[in-house]
Amino acid sequence: TETPVTVIGLGLMGQALAHAFLKAGHPTTVWNRTGAKADDLIREGARLAPTVAEALTAGSLTVICVTDYPAMYELLGASDIELDGTMLINLTSGDSAQAREAADWAEKRGARYLDGAIMAVPPAIGTAEAVILHSGPESDFDAHKSTLDALGTITYLGADHGLASLYDMAGLAMMWSVLNAWLQGTAMLRTAGIDAATFAPFAQQIATGVAEWLPGYAEQIDSGSFPAEVSALETDARAMTHLIEESEAVGVNAELPRLIKAMADRSIAAGHGGEQYPVLIEEFSKPGDA
Ligand code: NDP
Repeated sequence: TETPVTVIGLGLMGQALAHAFLKAGHPTTVWNRTGAKADDLIREGARLAPTVAEALTAGSLTVICVTDYPAMYELLGASDIELDGTMLINLTSGDSAQAREAADWAEKRGARYLDGAIMAVPPAIGTAEAVILHSGPESDFDAHKSTLDALGTITYLGADHGLASLYDMAGLAMMWSVLNAWLQGTAMLRTAGIDAATFAPFAQQIATGVAEWLPGYAEQIDSGSFPAEVSALETDARAMTHLIEESEAVGVNAELPRLIKAMADRSIAAGHGGEQYPVLIEEFSKPGDA
């Protein structure tokens, strides 16, 4: 028989998590502030605990997934709640400092604590497509990995509890940058009557092509040496000027191209114009002007 688990927080994500545990055969106890959100899960075989305190004792691990860290403290911070001996896996989104603080807080109360970050939408939970990152004591991760496998592609990053959130943020930086670049291009092409669907396959090809440069560029960053093998930064900067001018000429937003050009200009002013694009890591690695 499979390990019994508890899921606290049954929003869109919490329901998906509980559903995946049930589907994998884990006896699943759930709790949510708004009890009605457990109805579908109860029909699927979940048990609704009458209180948070009772939910915490039902499973050999408790996954919590609520809006934010303050909501978690509100739920688990009450004086009548016993955390001693529980294994908490917090899949609530937050930043790395919040994760480290929560780990201290939980450990002071006698709980074992892993922090996690979900890089997936609820419908993907329970499939390999759902990447879920974990950080915290490796022995705790190893002890529960086979149970967590029900949720998706479970990854361990290291003992520092903040790592899952930090990776999560790095992933979001990627996601929004790719989407924003695509929206910029789409806005420009639409001024010529070309619709988003027509541009999408071309945009996808560019995104995939650029993605293939990353490992090589990463080597330049890690070695701190940026020879211009395919293009010098000043060549890129000239093309950025075209992008800004084109955006302005067709009447679409030019703020993003101007921001990137300003960073390239600073790097060129610092003497890096003849080096390759990843030398901009130096601009990205310090606090900006704003
Ligand atoms: P929802 O808004 O659907 O659900 C929020 C959950 O938090 C509900 O169970 C809600 O309870 C509970 N909650 C909020 N405040 C409190 C409180 N003060 N006390 C008790 N319970 C509280 O959000 P999601 O399920 O979508 O997201 C949950 C977490 O998962 C977030 O941190 C989110 O960033 C993360 N996540 C979500 C993704 C998504 O695509 N949805 C993707 C990746 C991560 P109630 O039902 O009673 O309101």
